[in-house]
Amino acid sequence: MIIPAVILSIILINLINLDISTNTVLKSDTMFHISNDVERNIPILTRLSLKETAENVVKNTEPVSNSRITIKNDLQSKIDNLTRNYQENTGVTVYCEIKSVDSARDPFEVHVMSIISVQKGNVSYIRDICQNISYLDYNFSERLSIEVVKIPDPLPLIKTKKYGANVTGNRINYGSSLTKYLNSKGINGSFVYENASSPLYIKKCPFEPYNVHGNCNGFFNLKNCIDNGFYHESNDGACLLCRLEGKATCNHLGIETFIVPDKSTNYFLKGPSSPDHVIFSENGPYGYGTYSGNVFQYYSSGNVSYKLFLDNGHRLKYGIPVY
Ligand SMILES: [Zn+2]
Ligand SMILES: [Zn+2]
Repeated sequence: MIIPAVILSIILINLINLDISTNTVLKSDTMFHISNDVERNIPILTRLSLKETAENVVKNTEPVSNSRITIKNDLQSKIDNLTRNYQENTGVTVYCEIKSVDSARDPFEVHVMSIISVQKGNVSYIRDICQNISYLDYNFSERLSIEVVKIPDPLPLIKTKKYGANVTGNRINYGSSLTKYLNSKGINGSFVYENASSPLYIKKCPFEPYNVHGNCNGFFNLKNCIDNGFYHESNDGACLLCRLEGKATCNHLGIETFIVPDKSTNYFLKGPSSPDHVIFSENGPYGYGTYSGNVFQYYSSGNVSYKLFLDNGHRLKYGIPVY
């Protein structure tokens, strides 16, 4: 009676390929459970891999030469540890090959392709998996730990740490480093970024559509966005994987945040435009793609002015009056 049972399970496994509704038949099957469990762990381990890689880049200020391969290899070794455990504990042969890690259509996600194969005796079970995995703040509580994954933006420190930028809490404080960086490129008006700051961790801005930053509530939404250090989708700004390679711009849909000048009583009329990819762009005939913008005061207190420098393209995007 054993052989018919094996044949029956092979037929059932073939059936689920034809009709998803028969999945329930296999729900009690250990192999199905193991495969699902491995699948559930891929996003968790991907976030961990992105976090560790970004933290290393921030610490060493050395960009990685190919972030997609670096993350793929790191993820593969994390997955191998997991599948080895299954094998030891259940006797079921499990293998998960990470095929690729790449930018996703949503710039707050990465796209991971993998193949999970599970085998016991004569029965094997193979699945192709494609996942779009968000790398935003994520709570590990489902695994009985409350660690929150926060991914630091590696780009600003790759560019400015050697000039003296440092991290305090959730922000990067540039001191004189950003002025020095911009000066080294021969960019005019670099002094307006003396003591500027920008967010350390990537958080998605909730103010959507983006023009509500400026065109309702006074400029309260914009101030709130800047105070929280939020990031936005951007056609020009680099995606996370390209930021790990030290690129400020790339061909994928990416992200952008504001580099915030120090609040002051001085009032300069023009300066390099404040979106981070404008400041750090190295795509241009002179080794930079930085362009200037006119000053915009979004808040004031007494005679102290809180301002950004913004070109008209970004003013339109965020609902701020064009100059
Ligand atoms: Zn925002
Ligand atoms: Zn990219």
